[in-house]
Amino acid sequence: MRSVGIGDARLFALTDCAPAPAACSYSFPDADLAEHPEAARWFPAAQFRTRFGPFLLRRPAGDVLIDCGMGPGGVSYFPELAGNLDDELERAGSSLERIANVVFTHLHVDHVGWAPRLINAQFHVAAAEWEHWSQPNAGLPHHVDAIARCIAPLGDRLHMVEPGREILPGVALLAAYGHSPGHCAVLVEDRALIAGDSWHNPAQIEVPSWCHRADMDKPTAVASRRRLAALAAQRDWLVAAGHFSEDLAFGHIVPSGDGFAYAVIADATADRHAAAPDSPGPQN
Ligand SMILES: [Zn+2]
Repeated sequence: MRSVGIGDARLFALTDCAPAPAACSYSFPDADLAEHPEAARWFPAAQFRTRFGPFLLRRPAGDVLIDCGMGPGGVSYFPELAGNLDDELERAGSSLERIANVVFTHLHVDHVGWAPRLINAQFHVAAAEWEHWSQPNAGLPHHVDAIARCIAPLGDRLHMVEPGREILPGVALLAAYGHSPGHCAVLVEDRALIAGDSWHNPAQIEVPSWCHRADMDKPTAVASRRRLAALAAQRDWLVAAGHFSEDLAFGHIVPSGDGFAYAVIADATADRHAAAPDSPGPQN
């Protein structure tokens, strides 16, 4: 399990589950690998390997989960998958019960699944995202179904927030619309950017016009990717990406040619997670 320190906190890359690899041409219909052979190196054998990866921020003020995976199983859209977030949290020194706050980047099916099992948590989502998904027939049926199963039952534990305003000390959303109507990244203390689905693969940092098939508004998603990469490079933020394979989960964005490239942090290590702060548990 990989983790990195952020001040007195530690950020863990968790893996709920991993779908089977798909052809790059299926997942990224706009990607012409021959046109950008450098970026194509991120798709070995022209395959897209991904995972559903929430992040856990362990800190003395309480554990914060960013997104909550696909869930324990039984999702008809992913019939072959069952998530392991409960075990992953325990490996990182936390548990479903200890999570006091969940911050959503957006409300797609692979980001909301464990919400009903996080019984002590408050949940935070961009107002624009909830306003979209709370309308009837707001999108593809597997997302609409996930909202009904996992989000609607949260009632007054679901809080609407505006990008740029602090949700918890040092934690705020950064608008990165396009992948979904209210999609946001999560910024931790102006030091770490948890990118949500701004990028599904590091190749998109180099070629922002390569949209994942799930991007709901492609031109807006492309513009968000460009803006986020420039900001992350300028501010030297640690970048954390839940759909990158686990060994690539943490990195920095660096200038490269006319654009940017992804520089993986290779020394995010398993053994350092023993140094995680001793969280007092849920703070409601
Ligand atoms: Zn996703």
